[in-house]
Amino acid sequence: MTLTTAFERVSLPLAHPFGISRGVQTEAENVVVRVSDGEHTGVGAAAPATYYGETAATVEAVLPDLLEAVEAVGDPHNLDGIDARLDSLVGDNPAAKAGVRIACCDLAAKRLDVPLYRLFGLDPTETVTSSYTIGIDETDVMREKTAEAVDAGYTVLKTKLGTDRDEEILEAVRGAAPDVRLRVDANAAWTPREAVEMSDVLAAHDVEFLEQPVPPGTPGGLRYVHERSAVPVAADESCVTLADVPRVADACDIANLKLMKCGGPRQAVEMVHAARAHGLEVMLGCMVETNAAIAAACHLAPLLDYADLDGSLLLAEDPYDGVPMPGGVVDLSGVEAPGTGAA
Ligand SMILES: [Mg+2]
Repeated sequence: MTLTTAFERVSLPLAHPFGISRGVQTEAENVVVRVSDGEHTGVGAAAPATYYGETAATVEAVLPDLLEAVEAVGDPHNLDGIDARLDSLVGDNPAAKAGVRIACCDLAAKRLDVPLYRLFGLDPTETVTSSYTIGIDETDVMREKTAEAVDAGYTVLKTKLGTDRDEEILEAVRGAAPDVRLRVDANAAWTPREAVEMSDVLAAHDVEFLEQPVPPGTPGGLRYVHERSAVPVAADESCVTLADVPRVADACDIANLKLMKCGGPRQAVEMVHAARAHGLEVMLGCMVETNAAIAAACHLAPLLDYADLDGSLLLAEDPYDGVPMPGGVVDLSGVEAPGTGAA
């Protein structure tokens, strides 16, 4: 069959500046990918992260080769064949590959006239509630954003930490949201010793878990925290691809997966099962990204213990619709549109 492909860069202003320990972001650049069989068009998007060595420019540089490979395979249902061709072309570029693979999965589901979760054999009544993230800002601004998120109905919040006033922020956020499930993400900002000390403060504020307290690359540091922490520990920057799952298995409680780190929806499913085989709980997270990317992640919600799928919610506006997330609940039960539903 003849497949045609296209891609375009989209600039997505954020609703608020989004700060983490490494810097502040006011705009996300995604690259939307389309794969068409002439009747149906699959849509996906790459949300590159410089931290993992990708930018919109690197995505655009590699997409012509990736899409030529998809056209050469020619069968959008041969997702295994497409996966193998993409991996043989480039070893890295996971966001670029994720954008292509989301589009291919979307096209395959549309051709079968089923929502994406059906392609993966998942139960749409199994819901999970996504956290909504409070980025680093002035403490008063964070308090205000937290109150707004509670007013908007979010029941699970994640606050970014990794500043010289982390306890002050934590008190402000918890004070403005006394009843929510609260998670903390330090984005690798702490030393192992600092992380263990902070874990007592987190426990005192009833924090559900601590994400990536220490830098990746030294599993001993994460393991040190895991063995002593007063709250469970999640690995994000330390858990990028399938090969990382066994490496972090004895150094954390929760594996935080992202389509843009591991390279696609089917790769995320592989990681879910590997993580479970190693006794880990599973969270699916995201970059700041349009529904053209994140809707695919939402279709995997029935597989998850925890979700952090607020990438589209952080945008000023999203050109694409996605899976409904009232109050953060990833609700697939009424989703019947074929594919990811991003349109
Ligand atoms: Mg994180």
